[in-house]
Parts: sequence; structure tokens; C-alpha cells
Amino acid sequence: MNRPERTSVKRVAVVGGGITGLAAAHRLREIGIQTGREISFSLLEAEQRLGGVISSRQEDGFLLEAGPDSFITDRPGVLRLAERLGIQDRMIPTRPEHARSFVVRKGKLHPTPAGFYLIAPSRLLPFLTTPILSLKGKFRAGLDLLIPRRKSTEDESIGNFVIRRLGQEALDRLAQPMIAAIYGGDPMHLSLLATFPRFRRMEEEHGSVIRALWAAARRQSGADRSASTASGPRYGLFMSFDTGLQLLVETLRHRIPPETIRTGTAVEQISPDPGGGWRLRLRGSPGPGERFDALILALPGPSTARLAQSFDPGLGNRIAEIPYGPSTTVSLAFRKTDIGHKMDGFGFVIPAQEGFRIRGCTFCHRKYPARAPEGSALLRAFHDRLYSDLSDEELVEKTREELARLLGIRGEPILARVARYPGGLPHYPVGHRLIVTNIRDRVERHPGLALAGNAYGGVGIPDCIQSGESAADAVAGYLAQL
Ligand SMILES: Cc1cc2nc3c(=O)[nH]c(=O)nc-3n(C[C@H](O)[C@H](O)[C@H](O)COP(=O)(O)OP(=O)(O)OC[C@H]3O[C@@H](n4cnc5c(N)ncnc54)[C@H](O)[C@@H]3O)c2cc1C
Repeated sequence: MNRPERTSVKRVAVVGGGITGLAAAHRLREIGIQTGREISFSLLEAEQRLGGVISSRQEDGFLLEAGPDSFITDRPGVLRLAERLGIQDRMIPTRPEHARSFVVRKGKLHPTPAGFYLIAPSRLLPFLTTPILSLKGKFRAGLDLLIPRRKSTEDESIGNFVIRRLGQEALDRLAQPMIAAIYGGDPMHLSLLATFPRFRRMEEEHGSVIRALWAAARRQSGADRSASTASGPRYGLFMSFDTGLQLLVETLRHRIPPETIRTGTAVEQISPDPGGGWRLRLRGSPGPGERFDALILALPGPSTARLAQSFDPGLGNRIAEIPYGPSTTVSLAFRKTDIGHKMDGFGFVIPAQEGFRIRGCTFCHRKYPARAPEGSALLRAFHDRLYSDLSDEELVEKTREELARLLGIRGEPILARVARYPGGLPHYPVGHRLIVTNIRDRVERHPGLALAGNAYGGVGIPDCIQSGESAADAVAGYLAQL
């Protein structure tokens, strides 16, 4: 047991200054104000800037999002926080007039069948007439209506689920690129229950994914039904901020006392303090390190796993079982007149079997207003590799070549930026929920320790905020009992 010393003001270290750590620090501040019981905390961030993978900036009239560009609103994390921060009126929806997307088939862009939802159709006619699937592939997908439900409640990969219910072709040509656009990674290795548990529920309750989607479409009101005619993901659920997602980061930064924020401070080692609490050794600081009563590790899984090794190797090993895959974005701006394609949508995805380097592309100037000056188009291609063997210039050129083939681009880009994320995104493996349960059980053995971030219960920004805030609540509850 690792009981802290009894002093009046308790000290908490929040390690990691991405959106998770910022949300945790902000929540600690809120709790302090609400309860009148001051919690002294430090937000320790290795880099010189806050925000982690979130990074938006203005350049030559373009609004560039290097990492995430949207958040989903069917999870409350961002909405509730934005309300408390008073920035809800700065939230902007995607542009409904362009709410459609494309899928590449044999090197050409085809509209995603209207009403197609990630792995299966909710509307019959657009699915039957799409050239993306062969007749045989459509017939096989339709067998979902007849195939008996699976009896086992065990986890399986989302890829396996799609093959089992809708067939290999539906996976290869539609589901794989759409799932990869959200999670990165190979659907054959991603946990169904940790990524899309609702598809398993659909199978259980309706005996068929297609039948469940039809039932959901029937339940929708008339107004909503028009939204479901848009093709691709449920775009009406996605939002951003007028000046980009960085607004959330900056607003949080200003709500946290400046003296608590310590950028350029990397935590190198964590050990239990003999007198209780935790000792953190910081990079470049000699001596035994700083003591804290409680600890929130708001880091990507691999970083948490490394730090946990020194005080609980079993915990570190369990966290290390959650793999992460790299991600790279290449933003390219062109004159609209240099692009042959009308780009009447939010972008496109490319099945892996098409043999392109890029996995997809967002038409940023179509998705949200004020992303590019009049007459310009801002495209953002994404890769699921780092391409460390290529310089930025080489990667820009390879990306441009592929976009030129797909969109009929003639001119050179007027702006090009590359952002590489070696850590990228977690690829929740089959059995992920059990891994997380084991991790939570082990964390219980360390009073005053909380883990948060995208490794555990969701990769999206709303999930990260939620996990950061829950970690802060747990730590505050622990300190209150001392
Ligand atoms: C390219 C890309 C696109 C995405 N698109 C979307 C999207 O559109 N919508 C969406 O909802 N989600 C999206 N995501 C996912 C989402 O953005 C992330 O899951 C989320 O932002 C992660 O936040 P975080 O704070 O947990 O981690 P991070 O942002 O990774 O922050 C962790 C921080 O910890 C710091 N750190 C690491 N080690 C240490 C240490 N030892 N000591 C101190 N500090 C340390 C790092 O420097 C970093 O700042 C995307 C992710 C990527 C990579």
C-alpha cells in the first residue's frame, strides 16, 4: 500500500498535456473550486506545446489541421466541456450541402451508396446500383438477412464479423477502408466489441445487420431520414470549432493556472515513495525526483507501459499488449481550377487492395467553412505508415502524384505540409475489453493512481476527455478520503 503523507494541500501530477491530460487538469481545477478544497496539481508535458496530436494553425488563409479535424457529438465529452468552457457557440457542423463521400474502385471515385453505414446498407436501391461491389458481392452481402446469428458471445475481429455476415467483398471494398479511416489498422486484427459493439447487438437483436439498419431507418423521423440519404459516415454527427480543434486546447490552457503547466518536462521514471505517494524523475533533473500524492497518467499506451514497468511490470506488460499504429497526414492546397474533379463531398477512402499509398483524403474546404481562401482547395491525405525512408518533399510528391491520378490535378500545390505521428492510433486487439479489465484490476492495487487516454475505452476526442475527467474524479475522491 502506497499511502501518502498527511499534509493539508495534496499534490497531483497529471502526466501528458494532450487533450486527455488537459481535460483531467481542468477537472481537478473545477473540483477544487466546487468543493473549496484546493488540489495542487502540475501538468507535466514533454513537448514545448500542449495539445498532443491536436494541432490547428492558420497559414496563408488556410486553416490546417495536422491531426484530428472533427469530433463526434453522439458522445458527450466535447459538448459538455465546451458548454462549461463557454465555447459552445464556436462549434460548427459539417456543411450539409456536401455531406457525401466517395470510395475508390479501380482507380476511380464512386459515391458511397446512399444510406450505407460503415459495413452494411440501410437502403436497398443505392446499394443494388453501386458499381463498387460486383453482383456476386451484393448477393453475398444480402445473405446477411438469412444467416443465423452467432451463438458465442466472445469477441472477434470486426473483419471476421463482416466476412461472416456480409462477405469478403463487402469487407475489402467498403468496410475495410471506412474502418481504417477511423481506427487505422487492419480490421482483421481490430476487436469488434471494443470498436463497434453495436454491430454485435444488431446481430443479437435482429438476427441481421441489414435488418437492424432498416429498422433504425424506419424509426427515424422524416427530418432525420433526409440526413440518412447522405452517403458515408453519419456526417451530421461531426463537428469542429470555427478556428479548428486547437480552440479547445487553448481555452483549456487559459482555464488552468499558468504556474501548474510545465511544458518541456518529460517524466522518465515513476516509483512509489517510501513515505507514501509517488516519486517522479524528470528528464534532466538530478536527485530522487519530485513527490506527489496522486498520479494521473494521461499518455498513449506505449508511454504508460514504459513508465509502469518500473513500479509494476505486470501492469506495464498488460498495457503493452495494446498495439499502436503510425499515422501521417499530408495537407496540400491547390487552385480549384487546377483540379478536374468537382470534389462535391467531404472526401474519399481507398481500399488497401487498390494498391495506393494513401488510404484516403478529406476535402477540407468542403467539410467545414473557412478552411481555405476563395478559389482554393485544401486536401488532406492520410497514410497509415510513417514513410520514414522518405523526406517530407518526397512524401509530398508521392502523395501529389496519387491525388493527381484520382482527382485529375494538373498544377503544383500552392502549400504542402506533412505531419507524422509515430504513435498514431491504438488498434484495439481482439479481447481488448478483457485486457482493459485486467489493467483496471491492477491499477486498483495502487491507490492514488489513475490511467486515462485513448488506450482503454475509445480513441476519439470525446472519449479521451471523458477518460481524463473520470481519472480526475477518481483521484479527487481518493484524496478526499485521506
Ligand atoms: C492523425 C490523427 C487523426 C485523428 N483524427 C481524429 C478525429 O478526427 N476525431 C477524433 O475524435 N479523434 C481523432 N484522432 C484521435 C484523437 O485525436 C486522439 O486519440 C487524442 O487526441 C489523444 O489525446 P491524448 O491526450 O490522450 O494523447 P496525445 O494527444 O498523444 O497526448 C499525449 C501527450 O503526452 C506527452 N507525453 C508522452 N510521454 C510523456 C512523458 N514521459 N512525460 C510527459 N509527457 C509525455 C506527449 O508529448 C503528448 O503531448 C486522431 C488521431 C490521429 C493521430
